[in-house]
Amino acid sequence: MSNYSTRGIIINIRNFGEADRLVVLLSKEKGRIESVAKGARKHTSRKSSQIELLNKGKFHFAKGKNLDIMLEADISDSIFNQSDSQSYNYLFYFSEILNSTFQVDDHLEKSVWENLEFLHNSFLPFRNVILLAAQLFVLENLGVVPDLLKCRECDADLKEIRFRPVDGIGYVCKDHAGGQRSLSDRILKIQKFLVNSELKDIIKLNITDQDFWQILEIQNSWLEHFLEKRIKSFQLLYSESLNN
Ligand SMILES: [Zn+2]
Repeated sequence: MSNYSTRGIIINIRNFGEADRLVVLLSKEKGRIESVAKGARKHTSRKSSQIELLNKGKFHFAKGKNLDIMLEADISDSIFNQSDSQSYNYLFYFSEILNSTFQVDDHLEKSVWENLEFLHNSFLPFRNVILLAAQLFVLENLGVVPDLLKCRECDADLKEIRFRPVDGIGYVCKDHAGGQRSLSDRILKIQKFLVNSELKDIIKLNITDQDFWQILEIQNSWLEHFLEKRIKSFQLLYSESLNN
């Protein structure tokens, strides 16, 4: 059995057997890693406190036959421990969309890892814009960010007016609207800014809660359409918009 170490971020944790946890990471050197942290469910285990969603650090593994074994974790940054309860649903959603997007054997380009680290580092102070940027980050990695200015059915220019189709990805022109409501210039402008800007500029964006929830819902529906499954944590998160 050979050992290796890599920097990574925990994106999924599940109970495994009596005392173990299955821990999924996105790592700088090896992309997605699925591993077993033995004994991590015991409260006396040092690992139990280190294994929290979105913990970032250096992780040490032994290569296993099916799953690798997590030997040790040096956590440098724990979003979870710094979060208030209001941030938890944001955090669950962020990790779930990452977990749904990156597969074993996906190689992470250097720039992808750097953007991921930026999203992670900026998550707590800028959680609204970071979550929208994170959706676009995963859509981009899946190769399905739509052309916001073209009707997806006929390529017509959507600068003047555009509509949101009942389902699927992107927007449509009046001829293909099918009775749907038009989408405001403001929402399109924000999305264009998010798609075309660097992350360091995105965090300067100020958006209203109403715009945030609307864009979050649109982009989530794109992601669910492409993945052909529900993002489970979305409903929990979105229900907060109804309470506020
Ligand atoms: Zn059209």
